[in-house]
Amino acid sequence: MPAPLSWRGGRRTAWLYRIELALPKRTPTLAQEAVLDAAMAKRQTCQVCRRRYFACLPLRTLGHCDACEGGYIPSPDTVMHDPTPSRIPPTPSRISPVPAANRPAPAVLAAAG
Ligand SMILES: [Zn+2]
Repeated sequence: MPAPLSWRGGRRTAWLYRIELALPKRTPTLAQEAVLDAAMAKRQTCQVCRRRYFACLPLRTLGHCDACEGGYIPSPDTVMHDPTPSRIPPTPSRISPVPAANRPAPAVLAAAG
């Protein structure tokens, strides 16, 4: 039976439990860990450069990472997964206000023959 605890004139309350009676923490299954990792990957991966960071990104307000916003290469200790760093120029020109559907098509090289 937990003991009640209150402070601030009863406006704040909590229950005190005995540690020796507590059950051990449940261990998640591999499937549960995979689901949690997928959810975190969605919050930590930039939609522009596809880098995965250790921290969650401001995707609702900014939509991409600070490196894409500022046009710089992020510090390696902040990036968990860098897909192709040599092929991604960290320039602000990569962030285009024009939707992908309205952008001009890339030039197609005709095969000479
Ligand atoms: Zn980015």
